[in-house]
Amino acid sequence: MIVSALPSPPEERRLALVPSAIERLTKLGHEVRLPLGYGSPLRLRDEDLAAAGATMVSAQDARASADIALVVTPPAPEALVGLKPGTFVVGFLDPFFSLPTVRALVDGRLRGMCVELMPRSTYAQKMDALSSQASLAGYVAVVLAAQRIDKVLPMMSTPAGTIAPARVFVLGVGVAGLQAIATAKRLGARVDAYDTRSVVAEQVRSLGARFVEFDLGIEEGETEQGYAQALTDEQLERQRSQMAKVVAQSDVVITTAQVFGRPAPRILDAAAIGGMKPGSVVVDLAASTGGNVEGSVAGSEVVTDRGVHILGLHPLPASVARDASAMYAANLTFLIEHAWDDGVLKDAAEDDVVGAVLLTDDGTVRHEAVRDRMEANA
Ligand code: NAD
Repeated sequence: MIVSALPSPPEERRLALVPSAIERLTKLGHEVRLPLGYGSPLRLRDEDLAAAGATMVSAQDARASADIALVVTPPAPEALVGLKPGTFVVGFLDPFFSLPTVRALVDGRLRGMCVELMPRSTYAQKMDALSSQASLAGYVAVVLAAQRIDKVLPMMSTPAGTIAPARVFVLGVGVAGLQAIATAKRLGARVDAYDTRSVVAEQVRSLGARFVEFDLGIEEGETEQGYAQALTDEQLERQRSQMAKVVAQSDVVITTAQVFGRPAPRILDAAAIGGMKPGSVVVDLAASTGGNVEGSVAGSEVVTDRGVHILGLHPLPASVARDASAMYAANLTFLIEHAWDDGVLKDAAEDDVVGAVLLTDDGTVRHEAVRDRMEANA
């Protein structure tokens, strides 16, 4: 099959294919055709991509010949023009919030394979792009906070006195939250963490952090797929009021709370941020899906009147684009390796992975919740 990739938008430095993935795909018998200049966001030259086995062609040829077109972010409808019907568009498609993209896939009879819908099974882990990118986001959040804050993270004993460790509060302990806790601990901070899924308490403690208990009147807080249950407005209000004291004591708050398929819950309001010390830092990893933090702006830094820095992390910063691209490209390559046998896609009714990620096929949306969302927005 001919595997290509659509260029990423200018603000996005990640690529869907890097030399190691190109080598793997060509070894598997695929032909990789990329538009000239594809590697420029990572300063990879056409020669570097060609040396790995890619054929560098015009953007128009890359589109017209692709059987599989890889993407990093949901392509705008106009970015899909020129792909032939039946082409697989594979990558982050953000199906609940990028409805025009889903509609364009349907109208163009393109087959969207949406990596956000990957099953959270042990087998699928190597194809799980949400996890690979979330890990990096958790790390980046702490590094950014450490740069912004006006104190050090570790405890330091000096002849002039002892500096207390910074207090970091991580809200939401999924993949990103666990990496944020581990990174903050490595830098010597004192870390508290909270998640509505009480099952994560043990994981938090095993990283040397404290799991903070709040009573929101929920049992496990987890769906069968391992995702968080959405809270009611009343439960969210209970959470906000019980958290205020921990937030006020924290020098850094990192929020990662997401509820699959819904806007992120608003868990930190202006009153809680108003209680933080001047110079404190809040990093909102959910900024692009509605934001956990009142006043956060995706891709920007806002400083409140009292000098609290609110960073809306989006997209993943250029500082980790190389590792993020390598992991993402590996995830997609493993997916291609899994999903096709000799150029034939596995039966979606038989294969768990294909059945889950195949979003659009034959001019229809296969995922019920996405279909409902589209009908509601028609
Ligand atoms: P996510 O990105 O959907 O959400 C991040 C975290 O926010 C979750 O832990 C969630 O419980 C939490 N959250 C939601 N609402 C909250 C609120 N109001 N307050 C505080 N926290 C809130 O999560 P994720 O990183 O995708 O992970 C979800 C689960 O899936 C985790 O248990 C993770 O370990 C598991 N997982 C399994 C696999 C696998 O087995 N292949 C892969 C990835 C993740």
